Amino acid sequence: MSWTPEKIELLTSLWNQGWTTARIGEELGVGKNAVVGKAHRLGLPKRPSPIQRRAEEAEQKKAPAPKQQSKGISIYDLGPGMCRWPFGDPDTDDFYFCGKKNIPTKPYCDEHCAQAYLNGKNPREDNPPSQQGGPNRGPQRPGAKK
Ligand SMILES: [Zn+2]
Repeated sequence: MSWTPEKIELLTSLWNQGWTTARIGEELGVGKNAVVGKAHRLGLPKRPSPIQRRAEEAEQKKAPAPKQQSKGISIYDLGPGMCRWPFGDPDTDDFYFCGKKNIPTKPYCDEHCAQAYLNGKNPREDNPPSQQGGPNRGPQRPGAKK
């Protein structure tokens, strides 16, 4: 059998309506494989079969994305250039860092720099290591004794 323009048009139309390849084949008087092959040559979009689609949906419901991973990163994964803003309790496993790209010269990302400035100090440590023992410990006012 040969593919006349009419048959190609019918194939395209039925394909887009979601007919199964077997039924399109019946309609056109050709085998299922001929329908699939012709559709492929015509560049028609692939249609996942209903059964396959249902299986994929079930798969997605079964395996929800892990929450913990999108929340932040562990201290072991914390590297240079990453936001060091801590979350959670350091004494538990539920402790992690923001891990977003930090602002150069700052230990935090945009968002957490803003929060740090809002609080007026480092969220956990009053004296982070980078500010300890350095030559610039702030202005020393003579006579500022307790
Ligand atoms: Zn951050």
